Amino acid sequence: MTKAITGMQSRARPEILRMADYSSARSLVGEDEGVVFLDANECAYEPFLGARNLSRYATQQPRELQRAFCDWLDISSRNLTITRGADEAIDCLVRGFCAPGVDNIVICPPTFAMYAQSAILQGVEVREAPLTHDFALDQKAIEAVVDTATKLVFVCSPNNPTGNVMDVRTIANLCVALDGKALVVVDETYIEYAIDTFGGNSVIPELERFANQVVLRTLSKSHAAAGLRCGCVVAAADVTDLLRRVLAPYPVPQPVIEAALAIFSANNKGRLTTKRAETIERRNRVMESLENIDEIKRVWPSHANFILVEARNASALCRRARAGGIILRNQSHQPGLNEAVRISIGSEAEMTQLLAVLRGEAVACEAQKRRHVIVRKTNETAIAVAVNLDREAPINIDTGIGFYDHMLEQIAKHAGFAMTLECDGDLDIDPHHSIEDCAIALGQAIRGALGDKRGIGRYGFCLPMDEALVTVALDLSGRFYLDFRAKFSQPMVGDLPTDMIGHIFHSLAENLQANLHIAVTGENCHHMVEACFKGLGRALRQAIRQEGNDMPSTKGIL
Ligand SMILES: *Cc1c(COP(=O)(O)O)cnc(C)c1O
Repeated sequence: MTKAITGMQSRARPEILRMADYSSARSLVGEDEGVVFLDANECAYEPFLGARNLSRYATQQPRELQRAFCDWLDISSRNLTITRGADEAIDCLVRGFCAPGVDNIVICPPTFAMYAQSAILQGVEVREAPLTHDFALDQKAIEAVVDTATKLVFVCSPNNPTGNVMDVRTIANLCVALDGKALVVVDETYIEYAIDTFGGNSVIPELERFANQVVLRTLSKSHAAAGLRCGCVVAAADVTDLLRRVLAPYPVPQPVIEAALAIFSANNKGRLTTKRAETIERRNRVMESLENIDEIKRVWPSHANFILVEARNASALCRRARAGGIILRNQSHQPGLNEAVRISIGSEAEMTQLLAVLRGEAVACEAQKRRHVIVRKTNETAIAVAVNLDREAPINIDTGIGFYDHMLEQIAKHAGFAMTLECDGDLDIDPHHSIEDCAIALGQAIRGALGDKRGIGRYGFCLPMDEALVTVALDLSGRFYLDFRAKFSQPMVGDLPTDMIGHIFHSLAENLQANLHIAVTGENCHHMVEACFKGLGRALRQAIRQEGNDMPSTKGIL
């Protein structure tokens, strides 16, 4: 049975149109519960204890994930194809539409390399219609290279590596001019960095108007999930039908489905929005700083999470960064770019390091060694904590408990180390789990960062805050002991229960494998609690400080 060929399908490879729809019994029955699947030679047991749903093939386009994508992009599933990243989407488009040795694609350099790469792999000619000198689309140049064998025109917006958004009217004009001839593939990988900030708009709402408009999106960049390999194509239903025939069998692995759903969960959305806003704000600050670096002649505007700069000498700039332990991407090989280097926006600490290296203030990154990351996930909490004992910033703490954030910040601040801690816990039940698990993870992170403890001070102690008096004595001995003496007259300080304070120090010291004595007296509970955390920070400052390379123990290990 052959279906009628509709819309832009007429431009696809004829052999794919003739090919029967790929159908597994699974795609016919769907994901309905209550049936016994003996159709795909799967095993009836999981591959290892604790595995979830790995014994079964996922469906071609898992329904729950489809729903999440449709919600995100405000589209119908008839217009959606979930792929292993935008890269696979590009490849499927090329394979679905371009006959080897016959057809061609058009790219607008300088641009993303995968369009040409996929075409070359498929034996398809690549034609170039370069961007204008200010990196805008050149519609005339595009139309000049398009012929009857042109199947795809790739437009990247915001463009990698130039960072600018393409004019949506030009994209619309192109769709009209190429109607019935070629697909206009708009790669919106970075669009979230442009929406709301630079007036960059997704062209997805134009889907209804243009049968030949195709949009690529991905979770790799603004959703921070490059390792997940998950993205999608948004196109007219007939193009979507065709792509699903080209797609690999079961292209969305089960763990990817679960992780992607977690990314789209209501809790996480706000978090990603905040992170994205921080990235944009950091990018703008870094751009200003880069303007003042001698070796950099020019910083192009950016609507993405990277910056393109023109260097006096691009390879010298990359070498200099490399010597400081940082890898940048030289883009000078791209047509239309000279001495150009692309810089991704990393963490605050990474950007500080980059600027220091480029200013010649730091060379080798010896100071990166004493750092450690702990990721801890239970049914009650998910925590990520990173410490760097040789840096004082940044300190970013978000446990969901305001006063606890403030207290943990005291530890990092007074100990003089960088710490980021994020916790997503079951606060709706009780703060207990979040408080305890953060202390456990922090203890483990500091212990991990201490490494073999060579050269450290090992001991620390400290003292007062107004009427409150605290004594903190600490030995990073590798053995746990806690002696905590405090009488709090109030059940809460801020949103932190005071009966949790001893618990925090217990979890922290146990996981740090430290001997910790804290005694506090006073009247004001806020002062008393804060004094404990500050005191611990000060004690840690002395204990973790590295001087020389000696093992501070006659045993030779700690
Ligand atoms: C990074 C990038 C991609 C690749 O995205 P994946 O979803 O990770 O495959 C696609 N297009 C552009 C412009 C990119 O920069």
